[in-house]
Amino acid sequence: PTKDLNSLREQLKAEGVEFLMASFSDMHGVSKTKMVPLSHLGDMMAGSELYTGAALDGVPQDVSDEEVSARPDPASCIVLPWQKSVAWFASNLWCEGEPFEACSRNILARATSAAADMGFVMNLGLEAEFYVLRDSEAGAVPASERDTLDKPCYDGYGALDNLPWLSELVDAMEVLGWDVYSFDHEDGNGQFEIDFSYADAMTMADRFVFLRMMANAIARKHGYFASWMPKPFANRTGSGAHYNMSLASAETGDNLFKDASDPRGCGLSKLGYQFVAGVLRHLPAISAVVSPTVNSYKRLIKQGSMSGSTWAPVFVCYGNNNRTNALRIPLGGGRVELRAADSANNPYLGAAMVLSAGLEGIREGLDPGEPHTENMYRRSDAELKELGIKVLPRNLEEAIDAFEADPLSAEVMGKNMFSAYAKFRRDEWEAYHNAVSDWERNRYLKFF
Ligand code: GLU
Ligand code: MG
Ligand code: MG
Repeated sequence: PTKDLNSLREQLKAEGVEFLMASFSDMHGVSKTKMVPLSHLGDMMAGSELYTGAALDGVPQDVSDEEVSARPDPASCIVLPWQKSVAWFASNLWCEGEPFEACSRNILARATSAAADMGFVMNLGLEAEFYVLRDSEAGAVPASERDTLDKPCYDGYGALDNLPWLSELVDAMEVLGWDVYSFDHEDGNGQFEIDFSYADAMTMADRFVFLRMMANAIARKHGYFASWMPKPFANRTGSGAHYNMSLASAETGDNLFKDASDPRGCGLSKLGYQFVAGVLRHLPAISAVVSPTVNSYKRLIKQGSMSGSTWAPVFVCYGNNNRTNALRIPLGGGRVELRAADSANNPYLGAAMVLSAGLEGIREGLDPGEPHTENMYRRSDAELKELGIKVLPRNLEEAIDAFEADPLSAEVMGKNMFSAYAKFRRDEWEAYHNAVSDWERNRYLKFF
């Protein structure tokens, strides 16, 4: 290890790095950090950086508790493409000589090690949708002035007009070896999507957390800001962060979700269907984690964009290559897409919940029934009832109720994170519920 450390130090020095970020993710999947001069790399890797958990959201610690220490994962090291004097690390938290139970990265590590015990590696691709806007007198408006079409989806001018910041971001992702394979203007004015190759779940969670930070930094350089708010505008589509998931054999690396002779015609293996069934069983609880904010639930509606649709899920169901389902098996099969997840999710916690639910489906040999190939948005309430299809939580309160009622939540999160998470989100719901909005005043102030 000493030799590795020396070569890492030499490499960072040669690249002109001066400062290191001993970062870890808080409950929101946002990087928290102390900056460490390169000369202290060895100390930092051994866990010299201490943090007081009580200063953070959802780290269940008292002010008098022992501090948590960050142990950076050397494999996660990234030199910031927009600020090359700084290198970022994803860390696992420790406390009193033990892995800290309520650390996002430790929570995902526990889930992936349960998968490893069953012989599986979880592969994950996260689709990044987000807005890039600028502040103006009229409020937050698209970065490009021409971005005013009613149907801006896939707009060529939209992509070209935004290329200065967009290409800088895509180039940065390329430099990091993330293999961007396409990017476009999405369905909302000011909204974009960048798609890049999948990786194992931990690597992808690290990348998504870093990507949000990088997109923010690069947008700001150009005088804009990136927004990862799930539904910033009522009349435009929300920003999903679809989880594209498959299990590979830990031994051979073969994709175990692929089956070209799938009798249901989706190209998914029996193992894949079992995974789907497990996720569907726990989806209401999972929602509280992958759709984590008050605002998240304003995205999960059928209509709510100028182009007509939202492409966001509303019901607990799965289907073929059909975007009206919460879980979709995209064309070609071999993977399962969770469409409920949004851009505000903490990908460590989300992936831990989904993976654990899927593994349960495999252990119990569950079957999700036939895939829905029809437009689920057109199903009447009576039909849905007859089919036994439930609506996803309609708001954060319903989601937290489901999260608390489902034993899987505490199993995955650990007792302390489970209660800290539920409390933080319930407080958030209460704060929202107690606020009186313009919508209410417009409707009632002079009504009676
Ligand atoms: N923006 C949509 C969402 O909120 C997804 C659109 C798509 O399928 O790419 O999930
Ligand atoms: Mg999209
Ligand atoms: Mg998608």
